[in-house]
Amino acid sequence: MIKKLFVCCFLAVSLGIWGKSGNTTVVISLDGCRWDYPMWYDTPMFDFMAEHGLSSGLIPSFPSKTFPNHYTLATGLYPDHHGIVANSFLDTESGEVFSLSNREQKFDPIYYGGEPIWITAKRQGIRTAVFYWPGSDVPIQGQHPDIYYNYDDKPRLSLKKRIEGILAQLSRPVEERPQLIMAYLEQPDAHGHDYGPQSKLTRQKVLLVDSLIGHLYRRLCHHHLNKSVNLVVLSDHGMAWVDSTHAVKVSHLLKSEWVRDIVGEIPACIYANPGYTDSIYLALKDIPHARVWRKNEVPSYLHYGTSPRIGDVVVLPDIGYVVYEKKFQSGGTHGYDPNLQEMHAMFRAIGPDIPHRSIPHFPNVCIYNYLCRLLGIEPAPNDGEDIEFLIE
Ligand code: AMP
Ligand code: ZN
Ligand code: ZN
Repeated sequence: MIKKLFVCCFLAVSLGIWGKSGNTTVVISLDGCRWDYPMWYDTPMFDFMAEHGLSSGLIPSFPSKTFPNHYTLATGLYPDHHGIVANSFLDTESGEVFSLSNREQKFDPIYYGGEPIWITAKRQGIRTAVFYWPGSDVPIQGQHPDIYYNYDDKPRLSLKKRIEGILAQLSRPVEERPQLIMAYLEQPDAHGHDYGPQSKLTRQKVLLVDSLIGHLYRRLCHHHLNKSVNLVVLSDHGMAWVDSTHAVKVSHLLKSEWVRDIVGEIPACIYANPGYTDSIYLALKDIPHARVWRKNEVPSYLHYGTSPRIGDVVVLPDIGYVVYEKKFQSGGTHGYDPNLQEMHAMFRAIGPDIPHRSIPHFPNVCIYNYLCRLLGIEPAPNDGEDIEFLIE
């Protein structure tokens, strides 16, 4: 009998028919919200979530930048595997440079591998509404979320309007209501860059996003939706201070005929002309304040070395440094080794299917599986590990 029950449970889990609770999942990403901001600043809502729900920190995927990590959160794949290997990169096959400001490339689905959760959900009959999550306005596999907004359409919805938008979706009649709602907020990343993680102005933005989430949760409670909504609030990476004197310069060590292109600054990806990878590597391998690898020698824990979009030589500056040739202002930045605590991101969750506990920081490739579990749907193949530790 016990054996039979075990087999049934096993089948139920593997077929994804267990856990279809009918509850709604709301996921909000606060760009650049360091995991320890709630320890530094007054964040009553994040503290409430920690007390009554699940709290942790997320270890970003490498590089700890916005686009690669949001797309990792959405797909459960490392950037090396989903193809958005940086905010900007050279696609060596087409010769095109992908960048956030290059509309033509950014909206081309060719760059976006894997299956974002809004497609996984839609395929399994779940309605989705997504406010500006990176990739959601791109016709990946020819599809968009049921409701989505184009990031390049101006004026963009304010942060408050996005929260109001979530509430408006939740107030729709049950048959029209999305069961997965996702939203992306630019703060506190923007102020973190301009003023550094420990500035008053960044603190104000942390307080602002905390109060927006607090407003959302109070409205949920008012309408008794807190009993049927699992609210997940997370971030893509942390933030570290960089002094304007901390530039790592590489150009003067390289001959122009060796280099096809240099893209990015944390890390810098150097694309070699044929036959010059070793020349570049040997010229740079001992530079101070950076680690330098040939692409196939990037340490395995970074999961970064197979995509043709990664440079032949990868230069990763030490925390507090950037690979940059021109003058720049001191401020905050990120992109560094995900193992550094300064790069870890906040994670909070609260709701009917979420346990009350605090758990050790875990890799953000696990989030996709977790969201699928909350929605009761079958995940597509991904890099996420076992998520039992997230579940009661
Ligand atoms: P990062 O340089 O990694 O801090 O990138 C953060 C920037 O990404 C923010 O300034 C956002 O404006 C920008 N961003 C976020 N989502 C998108 C998008 N869908 N399209 C273009 N830029 C975006
Ligand atoms: Zn970011
Ligand atoms: Zn940023």
